[in-house]
Amino acid sequence: MSFDSLGLSETVLKGIREMGYEDPTPIQLHGIPLILSGKDVIGSAQTGTGKTAAFGLPILTRLDKPAQQPRALILEPTRELASQVETAIQDFSKFSKLRTTVLYGGVKYGRQTDALKAGTDIIVATPGRLLDHLSQKNTTLKHLEYLVLDEADRMLDMGFYDDIMKISNTLPKNRQTLLFSATMPPKIRELANKLLKNPESISLSISKPAKGIM
Ligand code: AMP
Repeated sequence: MSFDSLGLSETVLKGIREMGYEDPTPIQLHGIPLILSGKDVIGSAQTGTGKTAAFGLPILTRLDKPAQQPRALILEPTRELASQVETAIQDFSKFSKLRTTVLYGGVKYGRQTDALKAGTDIIVATPGRLLDHLSQKNTTLKHLEYLVLDEADRMLDMGFYDDIMKISNTLPKNRQTLLFSATMPPKIRELANKLLKNPESISLSISKPAKGIM
């Protein structure tokens, strides 16, 4: 099974060819068509399974052309993960005109604010810094179409539950939501019940990399 038959746009396929991806990992094989079909998804997946491309590629395919306002938001627990995911999304979208902005704490606001004001299609952010930018009205999420909660268990471990709920209150109800977590404790189920609608689950057994794939 190759990437070509999963329903991804030619622009996105060109990006992953350039990165040297040949075969989809199991979570990509199962997740990409589900996400393209518009379903909310809960994925039990650790880093290393290829989950960034599993959510990034279908979202980039759907966003297609720039609109200068945030339509996809990817929340991450740490600045390191936010910046890794931003780099991956930039690579996947190399042949498109979509813009991605990364927001995290511990650095000055200036460049982040300028990027938001210039207009961006995708935001990758840690929750606290994103809330700061929202309260300063540097951006608005009222046109958001895709919300990704990545590493959700780590976000809750770091105490971001309330921040995630505050952010979600600023988002349109009519959106697609994807949640990825290495573990599924009750608090994650509660978060999923609040934020996702009739989600499909992709289980751990199929999300592990198959031998020889990676
Ligand atoms: P992730 O789980 O998204 O953090 O990805 C883990 C690593 O696997 C990253 O270095 C990706 O670039 C790489 N990767 C993801 N999907 C594929 C694929 N289909 N083929 C080859 N490498 C991949």
